[in-house]
Amino acid sequence: MTAQTYWAEHALLDTGVEPGVVIETAADGRITAVRRGTPAPPPGAVSLRGITLPGLANAHSHAFHRALRGATQAGEGTFWTWREVMYRVADRLTPDNYFALARAAYAEMALAGITSVGEFHYVHHLAGGARYDNPNAMGEALIAAAAEAGIRITLLDTCYLSSGFGAEPDKHQRRFSDGTAERWAERVSALKGDDNTRIGAAVHSVRAVPAEQLGTVAAWAQERDAPLHVHLSEQTAENDACVEAHGFTPTALLAHHGVLGPRTTAVHATHLTPGDIRLLGHSGTGVCMCPTTERDLADGIGPAPALQEAGSPLSLGSDSHAVIDLFEEARAMELNERLRSRTRGHWSSAALLRAASADGHAALGWDGAGSISPGALADFTTVALDSVRTAGPPPALAAETAVFAATNADVRDTVVGGRHIVRDGNHQLVADVAVELARAIAAVRD
Ligand SMILES: [Zn+2]
Repeated sequence: MTAQTYWAEHALLDTGVEPGVVIETAADGRITAVRRGTPAPPPGAVSLRGITLPGLANAHSHAFHRALRGATQAGEGTFWTWREVMYRVADRLTPDNYFALARAAYAEMALAGITSVGEFHYVHHLAGGARYDNPNAMGEALIAAAAEAGIRITLLDTCYLSSGFGAEPDKHQRRFSDGTAERWAERVSALKGDDNTRIGAAVHSVRAVPAEQLGTVAAWAQERDAPLHVHLSEQTAENDACVEAHGFTPTALLAHHGVLGPRTTAVHATHLTPGDIRLLGHSGTGVCMCPTTERDLADGIGPAPALQEAGSPLSLGSDSHAVIDLFEEARAMELNERLRSRTRGHWSSAALLRAASADGHAALGWDGAGSISPGALADFTTVALDSVRTAGPPPALAAETAVFAATNADVRDTVVGGRHIVRDGNHQLVADVAVELARAIAAVRD
């Protein structure tokens, strides 16, 4: 890496949208200086035309779900029938074909302005459950895929031990299971982070980790100050089964076993009681909303404003990758709430972009990202303001235009750690992302 100077025609700084901003980056991948009021690019600077935003954080991803796009939209079905289709793809994954699929999916993310992904990863072992010679072959394939696609990854290595409360893993789930949380911890301890990679933990859900083993996963994350994620109350059937098995809601069960706290992110949090919202908010547990997946699977609308009010920072994820578009996730959170409440303006555009960036990065353990300011990681993305979707509004409304009108197709440039990964809409490391996606998906589909 070498130092590079960028010039943003407009940039969203912590103070708002500013015209003519010089962003200097150093060889260590950080921003060293930000200068406003520079009407033209200085000599040698790379021009970024449009509105430059802090890089987007996709806080919840299952990379292999990208292979389901389209197929799960045909016909009807429920969350549970969708899961059967998803398991058929999971059965076919190998370290090699998963690397190719994830590399292409992460390249699609870079093209959508995403600079960090939180990969909630649970396909660990051979079909049937035996370990690979390298027990972390699958996780390391995902880490390598992100590096080749030019984005940061937080590998949220997921503990997944049971099919339901007191039930053994089924035939699809055997390859997800390490047998016990102790064996999970021993395997995950061998994974290594680097400048591009953080290692975090996940509890798949209260149905997939027996209650008495939740504390082992929580302790592993606490000892390492690592992010800890958990799917929470996406389906009412899970809530009902949890109350029946334990006499607690899933949130209360997690609280009881030390899983909640400021390093923890609950994903979905759709069906909560008022007591659940208090437990999450008062413990500082973050919540990752995945609105395009939640609406695709007919999950429901989670109580995002109440969670934020109670103290939970909000992040966003594309989860099942029905689409990979963080602008759509951000506006969906607001628009869902408008439909439910019949009132407008629950979040400003700046607040929605904070959920899509700084708060997402924090949920993934990248505390120094999500701001265009000296000392921050040099991760940013530029949205065109001259496309058919974005042309017209004055630049002062660029944040509103980006959140409420732009799509991933309007992303022109993406810079990660000072490296220009997407230039004028073209990925610089993966030559033809669409071809790579088609090829990788064909290799894992029926
Ligand atoms: Zn998920």
